[in-house]
Amino acid sequence: MSPQYSRVERMNYLSSKKLRVLAGAVAVASCAVLAMPNAQAAPAAVQAERPVPGVIDTPANVPNAGRDAGWTAAKALAAVKNNKLYATGNIAASKCKRPAVALNTEKNVRYFESELVRCMYAAWKPNLWRMGARWDVKPALVVHGYNTVNSACGSVTGWTSFYCSYRGGTIYIPWRQLVTYYAQNPTFAVAYATNTIAHEYGHHIQSMTGILTASHWRGSHMTYDASLAESRRRELQASCLGSAYIGANKAYYPMSGGLLTEWKWVVSHSGDQPGYPRDHGSWTNHNYWSLAGFTGNGKNTHPGSCQTWSAPATRIA
Ligand SMILES: [Zn+2]
Repeated sequence: MSPQYSRVERMNYLSSKKLRVLAGAVAVASCAVLAMPNAQAAPAAVQAERPVPGVIDTPANVPNAGRDAGWTAAKALAAVKNNKLYATGNIAASKCKRPAVALNTEKNVRYFESELVRCMYAAWKPNLWRMGARWDVKPALVVHGYNTVNSACGSVTGWTSFYCSYRGGTIYIPWRQLVTYYAQNPTFAVAYATNTIAHEYGHHIQSMTGILTASHWRGSHMTYDASLAESRRRELQASCLGSAYIGANKAYYPMSGGLLTEWKWVVSHSGDQPGYPRDHGSWTNHNYWSLAGFTGNGKNTHPGSCQTWSAPATRIA
């Protein structure tokens, strides 16, 4: 049998203190540093964000194994570059409003996140069906308060949101991070929370369409530098797909005014950080792909905006 892989796909937002600790430990994650906007009330420059791919690599029984098994170089390239997903057309607005809760308790964060997963599932499902996929699955959601959380993809420590593709996929969200940000800047926290889960759901779409396993297969058959570029294409696409959902629903959420300002700040301050592996892309390119997804054709948004495997090297740098 071909080995199957579950992966941790994560979004990190770590304090500089944690970053220094991690710098020693290495291996699992790289992190970008980003300062909180405004931050009058927030003395410490808070940190960092970004989608960071995991290196955890656990064989697992993935139910969609038939789709993912048997990669060859040509098949894997086709899966990432010419995936049918890109031609599935407009993403429908979920018409979900921003969940009307303050992100100030575990319970409220869980409600907020579960509502967004429900809405993203509803919005993405028609695109998956239009490409002939009949394996659309709503991912599980784990909103947790642990310092270290054990997943089927391995254990992950720190305020790290991530996606593990095992079985139908699970999104992990650490609630204390959002409660902390919310106390400092509520609008920023909502923008960050929205963007983070949209990014993780982007990984779920990659998983459902075979892109995720194909890309990881490719990455494991490359030089180190090439695998970093592969990782950047994967992460930038996840952000683009997430932003395409946000853009499709912007009138209803609504993503406008101060929330849009904060969201634009988040996406333009995410990406690789000096001293860490170049696995997520520059802030400029993270901003570029986020806006590409969010804007779409100016009227509608669609996954065809997110073809990072067809982009020139400068756009995935
Ligand atoms: Zn990611």
